[in-house]
Amino acid sequence: MIQEIMRETLENARPAVAQGEVASYIPELKKADKNQLGLSIFTMEGERYSVGDTKVRFSIQSISKVISLAVALELCGFETVFDQVGMEPSGDAFNSLVKLEISDSHPSNPMINSGAIAVSGYIEPKIPFDQMLTFTRRLCMDPGIGLDSRVYESEMSHISRNRAIAYLLENKGVLRNDVERTLDFYVKMCSLSVTAESLAGLGLLLANGGVSPETGVRLLKKKTVKVVKTIMLTCGMYDGSGEFAIRVGIPSKSGVGGGILAVADKKMGIGIFGPSLDEKGNSIAGERMLQYLSEKLKLHMFEA
Ligand code: GLN
Repeated sequence: MIQEIMRETLENARPAVAQGEVASYIPELKKADKNQLGLSIFTMEGERYSVGDTKVRFSIQSISKVISLAVALELCGFETVFDQVGMEPSGDAFNSLVKLEISDSHPSNPMINSGAIAVSGYIEPKIPFDQMLTFTRRLCMDPGIGLDSRVYESEMSHISRNRAIAYLLENKGVLRNDVERTLDFYVKMCSLSVTAESLAGLGLLLANGGVSPETGVRLLKKKTVKVVKTIMLTCGMYDGSGEFAIRVGIPSKSGVGGGILAVADKKMGIGIFGPSLDEKGNSIAGERMLQYLSEKLKLHMFEA
């Protein structure tokens, strides 16, 4: 039955693919086939469902911001993390630096590039990238996650905008770690290759309050998970977060690789892959799938 609804969800969203484009500002991402679509659901009851291109690897991109934030909260604590990074939706594009310059403020939130670069600055001296990779594999229940070195190199050679953001952060005293090391860490995290299934695994862990549903081991503190899910709800879809919260009502995080991680709390983790993006950088068919699913399975967090 759920598999049936998922198939319907995918077919309903398929026409939207034509209205979007794959990301092109990182040349390697241009190679994605924009017609690919995948949807995975892992439930609290231990069932796993997948339809479409759910085993195709793609780069996690901004969805890694969720993992970096969770690790920063675990290693540095809430007060330190939110001392220099805000908790408010920015209303601007994910790579904007407008607000950083016109106010004396710090990044609006950890889900946009400026905030995630600041967060990377906190954790880079504390945890080597290899350990982040190992931890990401555990969080996603996917030992196959690795660094896509082509995406990494492609992004590193088109890094001007993020470099500008990082130096501005340094200039404001928000970023106190070495700028180039921080950027390298940030881009490596964005270049991890996942599948829709890995995202469903991560979603399930978050839905389950931070305890691995596979092993019963707690991987993240309850408070960390609570903060992460709330930030996903308010800021996870960039300047589309408000409308998405109303239409879909499921805390989610998108990335320009075409992934969306969604957490139907205490119910299921949802992983989406659809590299055709809307103008805000969110998977266009992915958003449509989530809206459809939310209605069909009554997943809106304020469902009456
Ligand atoms: N690596 C990308 C960047 O920094 C991530 C952006 C995204 O997925 N929205 O621009």
